[in-house]
Amino acid sequence: MKTALVTGGGSGIGAAVAHRLRSDGLRVATIDLNAGEEKYSYTADVTDRAAVDAALDKIRTELGPVTVLVNAAGLERFKRFVDLTFADWQKVVDVNLNGVFHCVQATLPDMIEAGWGRIVNISSSSTHSGQPFMAPYVAAKSAVNGLTKSLALEYGPNGVTVNAVPPGFIDTPMLRKAEERGFLGDTQKQIDATPVRRIGRPEDIAAACSFLISEDAGYITGQILGVNGGRNT
Ligand code: NAP
Repeated sequence: MKTALVTGGGSGIGAAVAHRLRSDGLRVATIDLNAGEEKYSYTADVTDRAAVDAALDKIRTELGPVTVLVNAAGLERFKRFVDLTFADWQKVVDVNLNGVFHCVQATLPDMIEAGWGRIVNISSSSTHSGQPFMAPYVAAKSAVNGLTKSLALEYGPNGVTVNAVPPGFIDTPMLRKAEERGFLGDTQKQIDATPVRRIGRPEDIAAACSFLISEDAGYITGQILGVNGGRNT
């Protein structure tokens, strides 16, 4: 039985991934700013390496070495670029990119030791063509795609695959908050522009993660698997 860590596992996509991996038979721990109700849910800020390491100490004691990591913690900050403060920029990059750095670096030794590992980074479909008012987010998520490819080359020889899943328009608290604040335009227009004609579900992303983590996906690494209803091909 393998142990997985899902960051951002208290909400939206991360919660769906954690649920799916539990159903797949993995031992699953989550970290989030607010730990959820599920067993092995820990409160930790992914930008705080000491907090990540402390959570991992407990997870390893309870569940063993972590050989599966899904990085789903993230935050957006919609603002005109000219109105951004450097602190805004740093916060978005810190959570969406540096958080991935910390969690990968903290768990990779377990995977190298096991000679087997799976990392899936949740990036964003906005990296395909950019997104107005989301420059730091798109920059950070694009860097995550690049990090994914580099790590895939570096750790393939250790039996570790590293892939990214950039979600399209997925119905989560993050999306609904952005919608309420009027940043996403008309939701129906977004759906009409999506070839499969529906909004994505967190479970759509979880299904892709489940596959990429499976033994069957052992020959797939360094890939950016868009799950977006056909909007970005
Ligand atoms: P969500 O419902 O807001 O879930 C994100 C979770 O990450 C929240 O529980 C959030 O906690 C947590 N988080 C934020 N900062 C954190 C930190 N520093 N340390 C630990 N946890 C932190 O959003 P979601 O839509 O499921 O997003 C999941 C991932 O998918 C994100 O990386 C997001 O960028 C990406 N994504 C989503 C969409 C979409 O359409 N929904 C599209 C493209 C990419 P709080 O709620 O307390 O902030």
